[in-house]
Amino acid sequence: MEAVRDVLNRPLRDLRISLTDRCNFRCRYCMPREIFGPGYAFLPAEEILTAEEILRTVGILQDLGVRKVRLTGGEPLLRRDILTIVEGLSKLGLDEIALTTNGALLPRLATALKEKGLTRVTVSLDALDDETFRKINGVGYPVKKVLEAIEAADGAGLRPVKINAVIQRGVNEHAILDLAGYFRHTPHIVRFIEYMDVGTTNGWKPEDVVSAREIFEIIHQRWPLEPLPPRRPGEVARRFRYRDGAGEIGLIASVTQPFCRGCNRLRLSADGQLFLCLFASKGFPLKSLLRKGASDDEIREALRRLWQARDDRYSELRSLMPKMTRPEMHYLGG
Ligand code: SAM
Ligand code: SF4
Ligand code: SF4
Repeated sequence: MEAVRDVLNRPLRDLRISLTDRCNFRCRYCMPREIFGPGYAFLPAEEILTAEEILRTVGILQDLGVRKVRLTGGEPLLRRDILTIVEGLSKLGLDEIALTTNGALLPRLATALKEKGLTRVTVSLDALDDETFRKINGVGYPVKKVLEAIEAADGAGLRPVKINAVIQRGVNEHAILDLAGYFRHTPHIVRFIEYMDVGTTNGWKPEDVVSAREIFEIIHQRWPLEPLPPRRPGEVARRFRYRDGAGEIGLIASVTQPFCRGCNRLRLSADGQLFLCLFASKGFPLKSLLRKGASDDEIREALRRLWQARDDRYSELRSLMPKMTRPEMHYLGG
């Protein structure tokens, strides 16, 4: 079916689903401990979409163009029904079902996830030295365990694994060469991500961003790189391969080279709100439609109108936008 298009003629293709706003890590740039401490009020269970509601929503959105789903959060593997969700999604005949995780629960789940139909996994890892990584993740989680998780995914056939590394000035610039070097000569793809001004709790400052250009230069000087064409329209990472054939990396320049023009993503929060942009201050209350008995046709038509009216392009307009309330990353999903 022809995908619905928005005001800027962007088709709807990708859906990112935040399965929970909870996490077993407290990464400084996402859920700083001072704010997400023991007293923090996470969403109550009854506010969170059930597996059934999620699968129904994806089925409807498929009619409007969605081909790829990414499960995220919070930490998506904390969902007890994660296997049911993946299995249900795989029955819908999507092109891709991907998941982004901090890896802590992956060794135990990798094989089952693959069996249920997960097609790709991304594991986040921001440094290769324990001291830096333990500080960043806020719970003292060791690097070794994340590397084991990547191995477990590889062993389960979820290959290549993508590795997400957010680079922050003065925090983990040294991780650029460490991670590039470690994953050279493997099928896995490290994606270096510019630190973004998501949410309002991480104290982001423009000076904290290490630009994709700088990251490129650091790697290119050591191991020369050359560009690769995008695999599909709307791909956020710019792909490069090592000239010596040692593999591939990705650079995600969300801040310095925004990719709003090709942005075909819709985001579903854990409590059932649809967001047209990572920086949108308000979501569309899908859950209330689902729970008040709307039919699939009614929901489909409401979502068609929602996407058709979309004109969001925050990253392109960043410098002109006021600092407004916007959703946190752990709630909306990265
Ligand atoms: N908990 C899972 C994880 O960490 O992989 C999934 C959710 S996490 C919000 C998804 C991705 O967003 C992670 O790779 C994380 O590093 C990234 N992320 C979080 N906050 C970010 C920020 N301020 N700028 C750029 N990336 C960020
Ligand atoms: Fe948790 Fe992922 Fe956010 Fe880190 S980036 S606090 S692992 S949701
Ligand atoms: Fe898409 Fe919004 Fe990010 Fe631009 S800022 S790429 S429109 S999510």
